Amino acid sequence: MSSSVALRLPSIDGLLRHPACAPLAERYGRDSLLTGLRQLLDELRPGVLSGQLSAVEIGAEVLAGRVGERLAQQQRSQVRRVFNLTGTVLHTNLGRALLPDEAIEAVQMAARYPLNLEFDLASGKRGDRDDLIEGLIRELTGAEAVTVVNNNAAAVLLTLNSLGARKEGIISRGQLIEIGGAFRIPDIMARAGVRLHEVGTTNRTHARDYEAAIGPRSGLIMRVHASNYSIEGFTARVPTAELAALAHAHGLPLLEDLGSGSLLDLTRWGLPAEPTVRQALLDGADIVTFSGDKLLGGPQAGLIVGRKELIAKIKKNPLKRALRVDKLTLAALEAVLGLYRDPDRLAERLPSLRLLTRPQADICAQASRLQPLLAEILGSVWQVSAVEALGMIGSGSQPVARLPSAALCCRPQVSKRLRGRYLLNLEAALRALPIPVLGRIDDDALWLDLRQLDDEPAWLAQLPQLQVDR
Ligand SMILES: *Cc1c(COP(=O)(O)O)cnc(C)c1O
Repeated sequence: MSSSVALRLPSIDGLLRHPACAPLAERYGRDSLLTGLRQLLDELRPGVLSGQLSAVEIGAEVLAGRVGERLAQQQRSQVRRVFNLTGTVLHTNLGRALLPDEAIEAVQMAARYPLNLEFDLASGKRGDRDDLIEGLIRELTGAEAVTVVNNNAAAVLLTLNSLGARKEGIISRGQLIEIGGAFRIPDIMARAGVRLHEVGTTNRTHARDYEAAIGPRSGLIMRVHASNYSIEGFTARVPTAELAALAHAHGLPLLEDLGSGSLLDLTRWGLPAEPTVRQALLDGADIVTFSGDKLLGGPQAGLIVGRKELIAKIKKNPLKRALRVDKLTLAALEAVLGLYRDPDRLAERLPSLRLLTRPQADICAQASRLQPLLAEILGSVWQVSAVEALGMIGSGSQPVARLPSAALCCRPQVSKRLRGRYLLNLEAALRALPIPVLGRIDDDALWLDLRQLDDEPAWLAQLPQLQVDR
């Protein structure tokens, strides 16, 4: 092979015996080290053959160092913590709600020990995992029964399929919405085997439109909360109570997809009003579906609550088994629901609500405090100012509502032509930090909304590592 070349790569055996490699074998295991060394030598071989590499570059010490870096890199988790300074609190791409300590402890317990997931401790017989939270759901929403699935999209799919397969689902044209990630109501209906019967128009749908659509093939009426957009101006929607009366007069169930939904009236914390699950049920919805990790502030889950006999039918659907939640989710969900029993302390204990209700004055003070520190790091090319900003709840809750907040606004003091590149470079440098920092670019500036910066020490500690154009 390379026998005619003066320079030779060290042998694998020789490298494995070298003192510089011993700690690596100890740390990452012999097999990983071996794989790493083989890959590295394969990559270097052409350079050695063509005489481009020096003896130093292929010395055992240097190679051990390179393999060590590579193994460290591979061992680093792909799931990374980040700072969400985007201004969107319940950010779907950043994992939505943060769990309270109570839920984290519950998850740890459920992860570590066997538990009564489907085992009734009173009778010693087989139990049902939904029973673990049914008492809380009844108390908090007034629902008769509950079943929990993977997310709200699954909740909608399962409910539609269980109650409306091979029949028509009647829905207003103003509610045929798309939610991020390619979840579209008409597509979900089709996949659930429900024939879409759309009524009314995009902006106005009346009770008589629904009434005219009801016939022998009707299976259910569906109402969808237009979470992520708003129709304003000349509009008309049929309130839940009126639609429920109409559905029941014709023996049809009314299904209401609240999307985010809320268990409590959020206006008590000064937040925009969001329909509550209890109110939808009081108004006559037979089944209400909502997410666990939007305004509820819990783990990813889809809750299906409502009339007992309908829930029983939903639970019998074989799809339920495919969409059910795991023990970790249930443990977290129970803990979060438990916090709702004491609404007075909820805003202190539930991180999403605490962040959503953080006073603007508090965020402004933080921005003023951090402004000189960031300005110093970024240098004179950047103008850093502490300014008021507007954030969002996120996850389709109240798309037009804005949360008054404060931000560090970074503007590059360069010609218009160069601005875009400077902003992208700063954005990339922030993402390259040990705990990546995510902001947003808007109006020729990079904005770091501080509403969600509660671990200030960790944020500050890594700032000196920022590598930017100065
Ligand atoms: C968010 C949302 C969904 C999907 O919920 P996931 O929990 O993200 O699966 C469905 N319907 C509405 C109205 C929503 O707002």
